[in-house]
Amino acid sequence: MTADVTACILCSRNCGLSVETDGRRLARIKGDPNHPLSKGYVCQKAARLEHYQNNADRLSQPLQRQADGRFVPVSWDEALTDIAQRLQAIRSRHGGQAFATAGGGGQGNHMGGAYLAQIRAAMGSHQNYNSLGQEKTGDFWVNGRLFGRQDCHTTEDVEESDYVIFLGCNPYQSHGIPNARDTLKAIKKDPARTMVVIDPRVTETAKQADIHLQLKPSTDAYLLSAMLAIIVREGLHDQAFIEQHCTGFEAVEAMLLSVPIDNYIARTGVPEADVYRVARGYARARAGCMRVDLGIQHSLHTTLNGYLEKLFYLLCGHFGKPGGNNLHSSLIPILSHTDERNPRIKSSAYHQMFPVSGILPPNILPDEILQAGEDRIRAMIVDSCNPLLTWADTARYEAAFGALELLVVVDVAMTETARLAHYVLPAASQFEKWEFTGFNLEFPANAFHLRHPLFKPFASTLPEPEIYTRLLEYMGELPTSLPWLSRVARHEPRAGLHLGYMAALAATLARQRHWVPYAASLLYRTLGPQLPQGAAAAALLLPLCLAYANQFPQAVRRAGHRGNRLTLGARLFKTILAQRSGVVFSVHRFDEVWSLVKTKDRKIHLQIPEMLAEWERLGQYADPALDYPFILMAGERRSYNANQIFRDPGWRKVDHDGALRLHPADARTLGLKAGDRARCESAHGQVEVVVSLDDSVQPGVVTLPHGYGARFNNGDPQGPQLNRLVSGTHCDPFSRTPYHKFIPVHVYPLDAADAVG
Ligand code: SF4
Repeated sequence: MTADVTACILCSRNCGLSVETDGRRLARIKGDPNHPLSKGYVCQKAARLEHYQNNADRLSQPLQRQADGRFVPVSWDEALTDIAQRLQAIRSRHGGQAFATAGGGGQGNHMGGAYLAQIRAAMGSHQNYNSLGQEKTGDFWVNGRLFGRQDCHTTEDVEESDYVIFLGCNPYQSHGIPNARDTLKAIKKDPARTMVVIDPRVTETAKQADIHLQLKPSTDAYLLSAMLAIIVREGLHDQAFIEQHCTGFEAVEAMLLSVPIDNYIARTGVPEADVYRVARGYARARAGCMRVDLGIQHSLHTTLNGYLEKLFYLLCGHFGKPGGNNLHSSLIPILSHTDERNPRIKSSAYHQMFPVSGILPPNILPDEILQAGEDRIRAMIVDSCNPLLTWADTARYEAAFGALELLVVVDVAMTETARLAHYVLPAASQFEKWEFTGFNLEFPANAFHLRHPLFKPFASTLPEPEIYTRLLEYMGELPTSLPWLSRVARHEPRAGLHLGYMAALAATLARQRHWVPYAASLLYRTLGPQLPQGAAAAALLLPLCLAYANQFPQAVRRAGHRGNRLTLGARLFKTILAQRSGVVFSVHRFDEVWSLVKTKDRKIHLQIPEMLAEWERLGQYADPALDYPFILMAGERRSYNANQIFRDPGWRKVDHDGALRLHPADARTLGLKAGDRARCESAHGQVEVVVSLDDSVQPGVVTLPHGYGARFNNGDPQGPQLNRLVSGTHCDPFSRTPYHKFIPVHVYPLDAADAVG
């Protein structure tokens, strides 16, 4: 047995893990007490990671699909030569926009995404589709308008807050906040602190809350509007904060004075007294904060929900201080700023949809392949992502991906998407390569964990940095050797700070400007071999550390790093390489939040005309008149579901079927009992489900978990493929993110003879 450290890859917290390995097995897994953020914390899911590392769906060599649908093994050289030639041919015949990428890293593998972006650059394409575009881009868009850039990302200081509202999230199961279960316990135990949960279901978090506002599904915008109106009409908003830090309050105030509070509260189904109690309690709190997640980002009025949620803490002045909501700085720039008002930002061909933070919404992708005529997408690389199961409208994705001239899937396992690919390229697992997460979203202290590989790559698999660098070389975008730059890297002292190398790289890029987009691969090929322990893939972190330290020198020094203007970032890089459990890279002061606001006047611009217009319309929407007796809230987080990384169903200790939760009263009406099979049918599709009776859901509401439906080891789908129920057009008009939390459905008892095909 060998002891080592790594991180969990099952949710955005990426908790540090202490592991014992036995050969190629993860034999024992527990929390790593030395991880700077999680400090030994883990939930039950991490203990099952061996099911990811070793399972029957692992890929071991490149595969090429034949005309009859069979896959045959090919060499890396054969695969990459053909892929490179076909990409070049498509680029020269149809232009770069005929190419798109999907994915580019999951919950803990963002290293590969940085290298994949270079292939988009080589093709001259802006078409970047990933799961943030079906979850968070409404939020990013609002941030862009309020704070000046779409990469101004907000976070919440739950640990220091005395009044915490969890809106549309269930941290007990979905985590998302530091050491979620311990943090919830601490709030619950402290009589001076209040926990409020706003959720249609009595979630595990709601059971611990002081107050649970159990609203009807997708009425969040009405509830938030009513509470904001109460706060402003009762003069509980923070006028001094608004005057000092915000513009445009008058327009927001005028809107709030017109909100029909009683009517809006009635729509939510929440007792009026509770709504007033929470509005007043939060506004008067010393330090209030709000944590939101997909519960409002997959509900009706998604983007408006995000605007109202942010107004909630901004109008109360719970921003830019301990225990409030804050902006944070980023070491890894996973978001960008693509304001659609800028004429240089390219929209998609068919839907004319603009990217937000550089990301296009998966909801439009099938149409961009099938409907855009001569301007259609013809070739794609799908990286660490399984759109067939995880993005809305499985049937439409099957048709669209089946129509591509070239589909390349880079993944650890044979996924449902990979089965449609022309080439399947096997990636080393997340425990077989250098990796990191770009989800470093903390403030004031922020940490970064560069994970060292636990094992050598399996069989003929390769890490993504090698795959994409080779592809650039096969495409002729980069030479296979760069002798001068390699020599400079080689002759620098091994313990040096690479400053001579960085000067040489800058000189090279000044001469060869077309190589600028390929800086990650240049670093990988030239500096990479000189880094200790084979950390070549991490070479791209050097310029990121230099840039970060240059921008936030005091925050880096407060975190304990030393150096002058030239050396601080390089020393930070060396520390990141050396510390196997992760590093605190910055400690900000709270007043530095204002330097992270990117509007020209450094003020928060509350007035967003598009949102005010949508807010105005809110009163005119009728209660959704439906021909369906149930609302399905899809994508629930439970004890044993995670991202699609787990394919082997043996990892689940409970809930093997991904059961449909149904209120017992509804079950009686339908003549269903626990364990019965049923058909869940939307206007768009149907899936077969197993029923579980659960009074945590409201009558008339049913839920299904995400993360099921994989055809493990070529078998039948394991649990519901819920995206067969969801149309890509059932989505938010601004961000085009799907309404997974509001799908009208029927539930029918299922006889054996009626099994859904
Ligand atoms: S699933 Fe999330 S909270 Fe649980 S151990 Fe993994 S990273 Fe931590």
